[in-house]
Amino acid sequence: MCRTIVGVSANLCPVDQAGKNIHSSVSCKFAESIKLVGGLPMVIPVGDKSLVKDYIETVDKLILSGGQNVHPQFYGEEKAIDSDDYNLARDEFELALLKEAIRQGKPVLAICRGLQLVNVAFGGTLNQQIDNHWQGQPFGTSHSIRTEKGSVVERLFGQASQINSVHRQSIKDLAPNFRATAFDPRDNTIEAIEAVDGSRIIGLQWHPEFLINEEKGNLELFQYLLQEL
Ligand code: MN
Repeated sequence: MCRTIVGVSANLCPVDQAGKNIHSSVSCKFAESIKLVGGLPMVIPVGDKSLVKDYIETVDKLILSGGQNVHPQFYGEEKAIDSDDYNLARDEFELALLKEAIRQGKPVLAICRGLQLVNVAFGGTLNQQIDNHWQGQPFGTSHSIRTEKGSVVERLFGQASQINSVHRQSIKDLAPNFRATAFDPRDNTIEAIEAVDGSRIIGLQWHPEFLINEEKGNLELFQYLLQEL
């Protein structure tokens, strides 16, 4: 096996109105991005925590993908908003995947909900509802970022870039072993985080998989995951 295997966590998506027919799915854009940089994409369905050791042994890199809100019970808060966009089974499984990836020293790219989950896993908290960060479909861009000097995102995206924004939650208290490396200049929302304790983890609040052909840095980020992280 020569190709680098990139495991991508899947969502649970009901495909009928009654919610009985549920698919394990994640955007095809991940597979496309991973293949473009020479990797072999594999989708990891939500499952039992007893499976995470074998999943992480099988993959070289892990992507935690976007989706539901992270349940506030994981950062010690009550649900403060009127939303049922949560999935405890997915939260628990992906937290276990993340923990095992750290244990086995496998690099992690955390996207959108993934970034929120990483922040929570390391002791951070979230804003449960923010304004001006929901553009609807993830195609095209809707706000800018400024990046921090000396960070990976500055190297890949430059000092400023345009990104998409499809999130209702955001980081409130940043986990202590992370540095915020990109911000929305309008409201200082944290848009990227990078580990400062030697953990091989980078998190983005936006969806780079939808911008690989549009904005410089996004495809290069997948290349960074494969070759450097
Ligand atoms: Mn945003």
